[in-house]
Amino acid sequence: MKLRKIIPVFLYAVALVVLFIFLLNMFTPTSVKLTYAQAMAHIENQNVSDLQIRGNVLNMTLVQPVEGNKKVQHELADPDGFWQKMEDTFAAQKEAGVLTDYDFTPQRAFSVYDLIPPLLIVGLILLGIGMFLWMLFAGKANNNHPLNNFGKANAQLGHNGKKVTFQDVAGMEEEKKELQEVVDFLCDPGKYAKIGAKIPHGILLSGPPGTGKTLLARAVAGEADVVFLSLSGSDFMEMYVGVGASRVRDLFDQARKAAPAIIFIDEIDAVGRKRGSGMGGGHDEREQTLNQLLVEMDGFSKSEGVIVLAATNRPDILDPALLRPGRFDRQVYVGVPDSSEREAILKVHAKDKCLDDTVDLKTVAMATGGFTGADLSNLLNEAAILAARENRPALNMGDLNEAMMKVLAGPEKRNRVRLQRDLKITAVHEAGHAVAMYSLPTHDPVRQISIIPRGRALGLTWTQPETESNHLTRNEMYEMIVGLLGGRVAEELFLNDISTGASNDIDRASKLARDMVGRYGMSKSLGTVSYTGGGELFIGRDFERTKSYSEKVAGTMDDEVKALMDRAYQHCTEILTKDSEKLHKIVDFLLEKEIMSGKQFVQCMKGQPITEDTASNLFDEFRDQSSNADTEMGGKTDE
Ligand code: ADP
Ligand code: MG
Ligand code: ZN
Repeated sequence: MKLRKIIPVFLYAVALVVLFIFLLNMFTPTSVKLTYAQAMAHIENQNVSDLQIRGNVLNMTLVQPVEGNKKVQHELADPDGFWQKMEDTFAAQKEAGVLTDYDFTPQRAFSVYDLIPPLLIVGLILLGIGMFLWMLFAGKANNNHPLNNFGKANAQLGHNGKKVTFQDVAGMEEEKKELQEVVDFLCDPGKYAKIGAKIPHGILLSGPPGTGKTLLARAVAGEADVVFLSLSGSDFMEMYVGVGASRVRDLFDQARKAAPAIIFIDEIDAVGRKRGSGMGGGHDEREQTLNQLLVEMDGFSKSEGVIVLAATNRPDILDPALLRPGRFDRQVYVGVPDSSEREAILKVHAKDKCLDDTVDLKTVAMATGGFTGADLSNLLNEAAILAARENRPALNMGDLNEAMMKVLAGPEKRNRVRLQRDLKITAVHEAGHAVAMYSLPTHDPVRQISIIPRGRALGLTWTQPETESNHLTRNEMYEMIVGLLGGRVAEELFLNDISTGASNDIDRASKLARDMVGRYGMSKSLGTVSYTGGGELFIGRDFERTKSYSEKVAGTMDDEVKALMDRAYQHCTEILTKDSEKLHKIVDFLLEKEIMSGKQFVQCMKGQPITEDTASNLFDEFRDQSSNADTEMGGKTDE
């Protein structure tokens, strides 16, 4: 400890003590000093309510105050003589009948107990000063001390908890290869340096939430034989300005010291957002943090063996300076898995679950188009919960089916009170969707129709594509609109009235139509111009660009959307009128059985007898897919 640092603290302590003494004095009343004769006069006049001797000081409390003060003092020359005199005085007063009784135990000496209150107070003060000194100094030696850690990046070293390796990450072969390269480089830099190849400074993992970015980074930590520092973007933030920047500095210092090392910043969008984008002033703290990050990423040379790995699901909002070559110069896109990857992910997560023989993960993978890794892990977990709830030792296909529907549409509500009238409306509505979709060549086949309420929906028509295609064509979009309108059109045609049940369908159809016209340039009169595109609007950044078209275009756009919707409505009406007989058959079937499988639906549409089968399991549709391909393809052929 340096003397220079102790002196101010010592001065501070002295000042505290002085202040304390001053305060103590202020609150102790000063008493009036009396002569011996005056003191005796008060006693003889019976003007004393209380009397004490401390050492040789006689303290008295008077009944009638002197100079406005009830506390008086006299310094005794001979305290013992005084007590003797007092006993005589009181005895005389008792004799005269003035004083009826007295109990007189003289307090001659200063009591030790009188010391307790001041000692306590001094003790408390010393304790306070001690704590203060400890906060200031003791912590310096101790790295866990709270005062020391404000500017420190509390990065986690390596894989915390269970070690994850590339084995635990299913699928994602290319992504793994890309990251394996990084691990290789850190372990053997010479191999790349020999031919003059430079390894990237930073690698950004981007992609939708739940696709396994964090998992992949943790796997890198498990694979790499180097120091791995991980931190989340929000960990840089604190109430105090400047802390974020100093944490960044500290993080890179730590990494440089430990090099070769990997730094992983999860959810980097928390700090890496575009600068100066807030309305009415930026976010100073975040900007400082980001600036520091930019500086640090430039600051270390490639030979230092530090690589920054970051993950985000919003690469579009990151500051362009962060993405330029030299910083995050490589982006690895982690996408939604395809069916074989889904199967692999399911296998990874099924390892610690008990599955019975009926479970076929390949079928589940086929039926779960669009699910991310997180969704799939959740699906298996939900299914396991369902099985456990019914005390079954293993989960079966039925559990997975129920779990999938629950994840997608909410839990089944069989016990909800349903009026016959509502059931009829729902049945007609859903049958309308199904029949319309069947007749549309590019529409995904219908897998199940149900009028059992789930979540917020009163009934559902499930469709699921056979193969996963990444393009959406104009014709497909148009036919999606027609299919969505099926419910409303059926109500109009066969119930002579329309209900609110179609509101969600209409919202979705209108949004599709609006996107076709304004965003994808799919209308004739507006041409190939994107008016409303570019993803969601950012308040601030694109404020002035919220409307980049004229009122005239807006009018045309509305007309185009309306025309498109009208055309789809007309198309749908034609389909349903032509197939009204089959639609009624489906309605009757639904009112009786509540659920119709895709297979039964196709049989009905083809005029074949409807077979009884396990109608409630959606996966059956996919299990049959390979053997029964032509039946399924029925939906795809134009009739
Ligand atoms: P994010 O991309 O949002 O960071 P995570 O990495 O946190 O997603 O993934 C969430 C969970 O999903 C993981 O903990 C894991 O259980 C599961 N998961 C995602 N992708 C995979 C995969 N490829 N293999 C195995 N599990 C995965
Ligand atoms: Mg994540
Ligand atoms: Zn509907």
